Amino acid sequence: MPELPEVETIKKGLAKSLKHKQVKDVFVYTDKMVKVGAGKISNIKKGSKKLTKDFVNGLKNKKVLKVERRAKYLIITLSNNYFLVIHLRMSGQLIYRRKKQLHQPILLSVAKNATKEKLPSKHTHVQISFKDGSQLFYNDTRQFGHLRLVNQKELIEVFKTSNLGPEPLTLSFAEFKKISQINKNKRAKDFLLNQTVISGIGNIYADESLFLSKINPTRKISSLIEQQLKTLHTNIKKVLNKAILAGGSSIETFLTTNGSSGKYTEKHLVYGKVGKPCPVCKTKLVSKKIGSRTSTYCKHCQK
Ligand SMILES: [Zn+2]
Repeated sequence: MPELPEVETIKKGLAKSLKHKQVKDVFVYTDKMVKVGAGKISNIKKGSKKLTKDFVNGLKNKKVLKVERRAKYLIITLSNNYFLVIHLRMSGQLIYRRKKQLHQPILLSVAKNATKEKLPSKHTHVQISFKDGSQLFYNDTRQFGHLRLVNQKELIEVFKTSNLGPEPLTLSFAEFKKISQINKNKRAKDFLLNQTVISGIGNIYADESLFLSKINPTRKISSLIEQQLKTLHTNIKKVLNKAILAGGSSIETFLTTNGSSGKYTEKHLVYGKVGKPCPVCKTKLVSKKIGSRTSTYCKHCQK
């Protein structure tokens, strides 16, 4: 599942490729993936020909002014005060192809048995073509993601109702401490994964930050002393920034907008490494279900 570093990587790619581009046409292959206006996301899953038509007409001829990220949401600012808000959820991909790359098949997964495919593939749900002949493909094997077209007022409403916690990269220690006091009864792993507490951190970067901080994921936040909170606060930023520099982690389907894989996967210390030796003390790493997610950690190093 793409987390903050992966979405930030896509944001950077889109900002570079799409700026000043004008939408020529939009093809929606799966109605339920698109939405117009604010309102509950569960309604998207119904989808309709009318919504799709509004989505397509709303995007046509608009110019891309800028691309931003809030938590795991991508926000593309369009001309005439319209915004395209995209959430990749489990397996969404945004692949940008210049006109001369369009006929070339590409790998759409980092799985060993993956074969090159031409876009649009069977998992392409939305395709946006630009006036210079380039195309943006939204692929999603599990179909949990969405693309939503909103005006300024609706954009504010969407983020108000999503109740997102603060951004970890700009979070001061004083704010972090305050949040930890409010959520003192949560286990460390639940605390990091809860998007209303801090936004953008998922299973990968929670496990990596807790390992670097020598904190057991089941430990209650209230039991951490100030120095441990400081260490955790520092390590969250360190891990996220390093992952952004490496272009994120490619687990299953995550790819950058030019189709390359994220290089942070090779730098994971514990995530996905149950049974392997701890990189510090060589004790076998263990895994445990905390909340609904599997945590991997070292029993010896993380207390
Ligand atoms: Zn260890």
